[in-house]
Amino acid sequence: MKRLLSLLIILSVLGVGLLLSLTLFIIAKNEFQAYIDQQVDHTHQQVRERFQVFDELIANDERELHKQARRALKRVTDIILHDNFKPEDWSPERLQQLSDQYNVDAIYVIDRSTKVVATNFLPDLGFNLGTISKPFNDYLSKLYGTGRLEVDRINVSSKTGILQIYAYYAPLGSDYIVEVSYDVKKYLIRSHSSRYVDFMFGDFFTELSKSSPLLDKVDIYLVNNYAAFPFLQDTPNITAQELPVIPEKGVLKRQGDDNTLYHFSRADLNRSNLHSADYLAIRSTINLTPMKLLLHKFLGISLIVIVITLTLGFILITYLFDKWILRRIFRIIAALERSAEGDYRDQLSSEKRDELGLISDHINSMNKRIARRDEELREARDYLELRVEERTSDLQLEIEARIEAEKKLKNLASTDPLTGVMNRRAFDEQAHRELANAKRHGRELTLILLDLDHFKSINDKFGHQFGDQVLIKIAELIQPCLRATDSLCRHGGEEFIIILPETDIHNAKLIAERLRLEIENAVISNQSDVNASVTASLGVAQWADDEKDILPSIHRADEAMYQAKQEGRNRVVVSAHQLSSSL
Ligand code: GH3
Ligand code: MG
Ligand code: MG
Repeated sequence: MKRLLSLLIILSVLGVGLLLSLTLFIIAKNEFQAYIDQQVDHTHQQVRERFQVFDELIANDERELHKQARRALKRVTDIILHDNFKPEDWSPERLQQLSDQYNVDAIYVIDRSTKVVATNFLPDLGFNLGTISKPFNDYLSKLYGTGRLEVDRINVSSKTGILQIYAYYAPLGSDYIVEVSYDVKKYLIRSHSSRYVDFMFGDFFTELSKSSPLLDKVDIYLVNNYAAFPFLQDTPNITAQELPVIPEKGVLKRQGDDNTLYHFSRADLNRSNLHSADYLAIRSTINLTPMKLLLHKFLGISLIVIVITLTLGFILITYLFDKWILRRIFRIIAALERSAEGDYRDQLSSEKRDELGLISDHINSMNKRIARRDEELREARDYLELRVEERTSDLQLEIEARIEAEKKLKNLASTDPLTGVMNRRAFDEQAHRELANAKRHGRELTLILLDLDHFKSINDKFGHQFGDQVLIKIAELIQPCLRATDSLCRHGGEEFIIILPETDIHNAKLIAERLRLEIENAVISNQSDVNASVTASLGVAQWADDEKDILPSIHRADEAMYQAKQEGRNRVVVSAHQLSSSL
């Protein structure tokens, strides 16, 4: 975002810089234009004013020149035409001497055919003046032999641009016209001060161009219907087509080539009436190159200055933007990132009461709320965990109690409540398992059936409760005489049955004998100092491996025990079936 913003600002800076520079350039150009117009108006006005003075002065000199021309022409003509005139007698050198003598610039002798037959102005020697124009030809033709002397107005030479006055004399009856000419400027040099001459022909106009640095030069043309003649010698020629139609008042602007601008205006001559000139055209030339260079420099410098200024402005704005906006935004982003990671402790500074300050405030209060909620959640979770823990340990206790109860229940279901040994049901299951084991491994399995003798009389004699004590005691006596793998069971009433796995009939008989002896020797007493003794009859039988069930074995043990009863009690009898098979 920062990069995009910087790019936008740089482009804006360049755009604004360019726009400002162009605006300044246009303003400067218009100012220059206005300045040029004002300078041109001023210059043209000056030229017009000076021409009025020129007009006035030259009109006075024109009158004086007329007088001199008349005098000089009369005398020159008398000399030339005194004897029989022959052109070859009047060489240019001779005529020049005569010109010098009478202060004229050129002398012409024109014959009937309007041809210059003698002159000290060599370019015109032999020139037919009648070819200049028809009106001039008519004029000359009518002049021959009339005795008239006429002085023309000030003329400008179409060849040299020199201001001249021409005087023509046609003596009565002569075939020749004699003409003298005065170079107005030379006349003025001779008869006036140099300052006067300079004013009239030199500095007067050239100085004008120096009055303004923009003006290259000022040219003056004498204009009539046919042509425009340069007024000064160093003025370039211009054709009538090149000269635009200049309005009587105001200044006409014309573009020359790319770097040249012309302004035209006209000055009217009222007094001097220079020959064949309808008016004077003033043309000022402005060379635009320095101005364009100046403008381009101005454009370049202003562009540089503006771009530097705007760049400095941009740097300042970027710095301030960075300081006031971006850094704070980054701080807000960092705080939000920490919040996203679960750290809500941050408190953003919100000293500034602007939009970012408001955002910071909201983030702060949001963080506070989330932190509070977080704390509440943590507490709730801890509480829940505690409750679950408590409940789990309760359940554990409950489970343990149940297991214990189940164990007890199972115990109750499988033990005899009076003696604590296996009951009949448990015996059946145990007998079944041992039988399966014996079958699987091909081992022996024997049973001892034990019945207390005359137990009825014990009850009768000492009471049923004592009888119970006797039963408990007998069970306690038997148990230590057995291996851990042997199982003792109360088979009913005062009768016990013992399963002996992996025990053959002989060993079983030995165990039965030991049991019988233990019982016989035991003295059973109670708190009332009753001492009693008891005996037992025991039957021993072995499981035959072709028997699928244990019942036949029990039956045989019972038979053996019955036999022991019959044989006098307190004895061990091994089942006759076993004895015969073992024999
Ligand atoms: P024998 O030598 O022929 O076995 O004579 P006996 O008296 O032991 O046999 P009899 O079957 O006639 O009597 C068994 C007696 O055992 C009867 C009964 O009262 C007693 N008896 C059976 N079960 C219990 C008992 O759990 N507690 C007590 N105190 N006496 C019992
Ligand atoms: Mg019995
Ligand atoms: Mg008995």
